[in-house]
Amino acid sequence: MRMTVIGTGYVGTAHAACMADIGHQVLGVDIDADRIASLAAGRAPIHEDGLDELLARTLASGRLRFSTSLAEGAAFARTHFVCVGTPQLPDSKAADLRYVDAVVDGLASHLRPGSLIVGKSTVPVGTAARISERLADMTPGTEVAWNPEFLREGAAVQDTMRPERLVVGVTSRHAEGVLRAVYAPMILAGVPFFATDPATAELVKVAANSFLATKISFINAMAEVCDAAGADVSLLARAIGADSRIGPRFLEPGLGFGGSCFPKDIRAFAARAEEIGAGEAVVFLHEVDRINTRQRQRTVDRARGLLGGSFTGCRIAVLGAAFKPGSDDVRDSPALVVAATLQQQGAAVRVHDPEAIDTARAVHPELAYALDVDKACEDADLVLHLTNWPQYQDIDPAALAELVRSPVLFDARNCLDPRSWSAAGWAVHAPGRPRLSQAIPAEDQVDRVAALTGGAS
Ligand code: NAD
Repeated sequence: MRMTVIGTGYVGTAHAACMADIGHQVLGVDIDADRIASLAAGRAPIHEDGLDELLARTLASGRLRFSTSLAEGAAFARTHFVCVGTPQLPDSKAADLRYVDAVVDGLASHLRPGSLIVGKSTVPVGTAARISERLADMTPGTEVAWNPEFLREGAAVQDTMRPERLVVGVTSRHAEGVLRAVYAPMILAGVPFFATDPATAELVKVAANSFLATKISFINAMAEVCDAAGADVSLLARAIGADSRIGPRFLEPGLGFGGSCFPKDIRAFAARAEEIGAGEAVVFLHEVDRINTRQRQRTVDRARGLLGGSFTGCRIAVLGAAFKPGSDDVRDSPALVVAATLQQQGAAVRVHDPEAIDTARAVHPELAYALDVDKACEDADLVLHLTNWPQYQDIDPAALAELVRSPVLFDARNCLDPRSWSAAGWAVHAPGRPRLSQAIPAEDQVDRVAALTGGAS
């Protein structure tokens, strides 16, 4: 099939390359001419495992091309996937739909009869219906469907090739048929396919993100209670997660969520629910957001406490800048927000990240960056673990202890092994685990931590 993919960011680049890989003829369209030039040269605008190889393969096959022209896109295909951003409006919590609307307006006068616009961007419920009405005047006969995207950054290619489910919000059998054909290999491979009305499809996306965000904030709220009660949130999370109705995933206490989706999606959902008279039903999302944001301030406060109440003259090593491992995306990254706040408050901060140094430097040029963990930690008074890259599990705490000024670790992601760090002489602190940091002799502390973790990490 022929199709365009409009907006070649995280979602669009992965979607365009994967659709071409499964055999479709794809034209990727973006208004950013530099981005289109590098994509056409086989360079992905983002770091995602396997994406560069996929681009090279599909460009070479001739099934993937790129352009900056919507008119060319409208002439090329009848099916148009819209993958542009829907950020938070600067002066409210609602979503900014100007990019979606610009694409629809830009396409409208060029569309061929029988065209199908398929939104993948995350939008407020009612957007597909609004666009349909708008197009009805400009280009009668064009249909609008919504096919929300669930890919996780860091696993974009894998998630696009093998999603856990496909959801399409359609108003006709024809549109459903087109989308079944687009995703035929996935459906054949057993991926569940849900055909709904557009409003339900739009809501599935924000409901799923709201649920996951709530789970994260729930366990972070429990971490706060554990800090006050002298209990251990890691053990608590494992014990409640063993209940199959609850499950262990997204129950990892830490610095909270960030990135370009969860924060703005839950805010936009609450704002839209308010507009349609259902605000009370999702009032809890405000609290989810507040708990999440509070973890950043709590981390800064803990760091200050560990440094004796002031950052002046202190060196802090920050491990991690990306909002999550596997990605170089620093949009609303909790790690970077914490790093910048520490520096602003007087600390000398040096940041390491395996992939996100360039993107972090572009937003926070005032921070110092190090290309390896050792360099970041040299002479540090405190090491903060803020993004849980798997590489950080391989750090040799004994060797690192030799490089720092003071072997103090705050594991804000609660996933480094406290026993091996303590055994190597580090004072280990983590949110929701106050007993980790009790001043006890090193050999007892090892035993104590082993007891706390049930002998396993
Ligand atoms: P992004 O910011 O990475 O990319 C958006 C792209 O759209 C940019 O390249 C921009 O130049 C382009 N664009 C803007 N206006 C345009 C126009 N008029 N014509 C053509 N191109 C235009 O965004 P993203 O992270 O890929 O997110 C896209 C949408 O998908 C958002 O609604 C987001 O919430 C949703 N989403 C994102 C993810 C994710 O992990 N990033 C996952 C699921 C859903």
